[in-house]
Amino acid sequence: MNLLDGKVALITGANRGIGKNIALKYAAHGANIAFSDIAYNEDSKKLEEELKAFGVSAKGYASDASSFPDAEKLVTDVVNDFGKIDILVNNAGITRDNLLLRMTEADWDLVMKVNLKSVFNLTKAVQRFMIKQRSGTIINMSSVVGIEGNGGQSNYSASKAGIIGFSKSIAMELGSRNIRCNAIAPGFIETEMTAKLTEEIRNEWIEDIPLKRPGTTDDVANAALFLASDLSGYITGQVLSVCGGMHT
Ligand code: NAD
Repeated sequence: MNLLDGKVALITGANRGIGKNIALKYAAHGANIAFSDIAYNEDSKKLEEELKAFGVSAKGYASDASSFPDAEKLVTDVVNDFGKIDILVNNAGITRDNLLLRMTEADWDLVMKVNLKSVFNLTKAVQRFMIKQRSGTIINMSSVVGIEGNGGQSNYSASKAGIIGFSKSIAMELGSRNIRCNAIAPGFIETEMTAKLTEEIRNEWIEDIPLKRPGTTDDVANAALFLASDLSGYITGQVLSVCGGMHT
């Protein structure tokens, strides 16, 4: 059964990793896909082709999610190209890990700007269109460390905790307009972001996971599919952890 037939989804940071898998999952369920990343490159071109193979429209855009004017332009361009936006997935994110002792102001500012301000930028830009059409669903990529904290990731954890507060507030502001807003809190998911971890840290993480395996991008994309579809029609302002039971 196709869960997203005829819907238009905008996914940020989708050239690779979790965002890419969400784009493919949504396309497989009949959604037309607009996706953005910091650059439009070979990966974007390849993904466009993969998405179109599902018989849907697909277009990649170069757009810095942390830039307010970029976000405004992206949303305007997507609405011009696709006619509407039903689903927004704020997925773009980065890490600049360090103990507070060694963390620079630049590392703090960059992580807050890319991870948290981007969510404000895109949500603000899409809301006027979603309000007009009186429907929409917004999914923000948080993290289990936004709930639990993590030594060496104070900037990243703070940005991901901020996303949760933002998502709950937007759910309250826009619920009466039939617009839902939820967050996903992935645990340890195997992507290029986590490939930077040492073997030792990787094994420690897996030891702590009740399901005894890292998550896949598909695990996260399945949760994102649920939150985008009408199956979650009465769910808003929630945080769905996809973490193998690691932090519950
Ligand atoms: P990734 O690094 O593999 O992919 C992130 C993508 O975002 C890249 O394509 C990158 O170019 C893009 N990006 C970075 N800055 C951008 C910007 N300013 N504007 C637009 N695009 C930008 O990461 P991932 O593992 O796929 O993570 C995706 C999201 O999931 C992130 O928000 C991350 O914090 C979150 N997350 C990941 C994990 C994990 O274990 N991998 C766990 C919890 C949360």
